[in-house]
Amino acid sequence: MPSYKAPLRDQQFVLHEVLGAVDALREMPRYADLDADTVNQVIEEAGKFCEDMLLPINRTGDEEGCTYDPATKSVRTPKGFKEAYDAFREAGWQGLAAETEYGGQGLPHLLQIAFYEMQYSTNQAWAMYPGLTIGAYECLLKHAAEEQKNLYLPKMTSGQWTGTMCLTEPHCGTDLGMLRTKAEPQADGSYKLTGEKIFISSGDHDMAENIIHLVLARLPDAPHGTKGISLFIVPKFVPQGTGETAKIGARNGIFCGGLEHKMGINGNATCQMILDGATGWMIGEPNKGLNAMFVMMNGARLGVGVQGLGITEVAYQNAVAYAKDRLQGRSLAGPTNPEKPADPIIVHPDVRRMLLTARAYAEGGRAFGYWVALMADTQISHPDEEQRKFGADMMSLMTPIVKAFMTDNGFLCASECLQVFGGHGYIRQWGMEQFVRDARINMIYEGTNTIQSLDLIGRKILMDNGAKLRVFGKMVTEFIEENGTHPDMDEFVSPLADIGNKVQKLTMELGMKAMANRDEVGAAAVPYLRVVGHLVYSYFWARMAKVAVERVRADGGGVDPFYKHKLMVARFYFQKLLPETATLIRNVRVGSATLMEMPAEAF
Ligand SMILES: Cc1cc2nc3c(=O)[nH]c(=O)nc-3n(C[C@H](O)[C@H](O)[C@H](O)COP(=O)(O)OP(=O)(O)OC[C@H]3O[C@@H](n4cnc5c(N)ncnc54)[C@H](O)[C@@H]3O)c2cc1C
Repeated sequence: MPSYKAPLRDQQFVLHEVLGAVDALREMPRYADLDADTVNQVIEEAGKFCEDMLLPINRTGDEEGCTYDPATKSVRTPKGFKEAYDAFREAGWQGLAAETEYGGQGLPHLLQIAFYEMQYSTNQAWAMYPGLTIGAYECLLKHAAEEQKNLYLPKMTSGQWTGTMCLTEPHCGTDLGMLRTKAEPQADGSYKLTGEKIFISSGDHDMAENIIHLVLARLPDAPHGTKGISLFIVPKFVPQGTGETAKIGARNGIFCGGLEHKMGINGNATCQMILDGATGWMIGEPNKGLNAMFVMMNGARLGVGVQGLGITEVAYQNAVAYAKDRLQGRSLAGPTNPEKPADPIIVHPDVRRMLLTARAYAEGGRAFGYWVALMADTQISHPDEEQRKFGADMMSLMTPIVKAFMTDNGFLCASECLQVFGGHGYIRQWGMEQFVRDARINMIYEGTNTIQSLDLIGRKILMDNGAKLRVFGKMVTEFIEENGTHPDMDEFVSPLADIGNKVQKLTMELGMKAMANRDEVGAAAVPYLRVVGHLVYSYFWARMAKVAVERVRADGGGVDPFYKHKLMVARFYFQKLLPETATLIRNVRVGSATLMEMPAEAF
């Protein structure tokens, strides 16, 4: 079975030394009393929960999977899932970042993201049950009526009721404008929903007493396309009463019609959901459902990006342990282990390349992902309007990058770490193949990574004439100006400045081409997102390097090796990973003709 230790030291480095998160959060009145000890304690305890409760049932959950009973139309989760969930709930983890008003602990979203990382390292399939509940909670918090919030949020905060998001239908996934599920108004103000949803994560299970489905559907007179979609709350059991004392009542007409058999995350129930005259209540305004659902989708995209980080970290930890232990061949520079028949494979340069690739993407992704979470807190809770807008703009710009860049890297790194095991990675015994299978879905759901790339270049950059990208660019420029003359920083700052200039130029070029031919955007979007992803990682790697350079200098070169090692990984990132942008930029510039000239019938 794979092993895992929460990467507390690196998490604390990012939170305290790179982001100065406690000071930043204390500017927000609701976190005025937060201190570093509390942050550390929460993360340590959360790490223990993941190590002790989630990791042991990750492999067994994958092997056993979920079971569907057609007689009762219900789903049983793998052995141990419910027990872990009960322990999670009883410890109050579900409400970590939820409002105190609804029984939550009111802690920052940043801590939730740090906890997510560890949950996704140890058991992505399990973590999706409480994760989707948080997404549904946030959507209701923002868009539901007071009465609805009072009814549902306390139970979702305590984890007694879980949540889902029901968008996809058999004929429509990416193109939600085609969805057909119908919602007919009833005399009592409720709606009757009829239709079929597929691929619904956590759609049915035995871990909680009720499941609160957020369902997209159309009113009878709705306009065509995405402008005619409304959002409904459809509980599995219709609640009676309100708040913490609410009880579950009659079984509603929303059922699991079967489970998908799939490549990974087997412990998570991916359900076909039948709505057979189910009773629902509208959330927000008619035909504005997609806007409301975006709250859940954006939160989920950040979460999915962190799934990529979690898998990278756990795959890396296991690959390192194996590489130090496995004896094969001799070091090209001469034996390091002459008394044994061979050297450990960690002596081989290419094995180190694979390990360092995963480490550089994990540590870069952690700094980036945690910063975006801090932007989420800034957007919601900062007292200064300008800061709130800055947080919102950065969240908006970075969401597709978090989702696509971090999950592409997650899959790549899981595969590289499997490769470190050779054939032993491909067989089931070591658990590495599960990481590769689990990591693959992250590139698909919550909007495929292609769709994220189109969102970045289209909506987030070209539609606002690059304004948000310029705000980020200003931060990068300020960093370069502050640190560019420092000789120890040159190796990090110069490539950062270089990629910054290239992104600026490339974006302008693409904007010009897009005006003449929209296919140019479609053809360039995926490599373009990867180039911008590298700009962002370069910035965070340079910030981490700055802290490390200062610490190494302050302690005379090395009481604590952590900082020297950080600089080694930074160097690896800038010298071995960032240069892929040269190929990607050429790829963007090639344009659309090579992709579009062949007639469809010739494929
Ligand atoms: C395990 C699993 C769990 C899921 N959980 C949920 C859930 O909880 N709730 C939910 O509602 N859905 C869920 N989904 C559905 C998921 O979000 C969709 O599968 C995904 O959005 C893609 O839709 P699709 O599968 O219909 O693919 P399609 O939309 O048919 O796309 C097929 C391919 O075409 C590309 N494509 C489509 N349109 C365009 C375009 N305009 N431009 C360029 N390329 C395009 C796509 O990128 C993709 O590569 C889940 C799916 C899986 C497999």
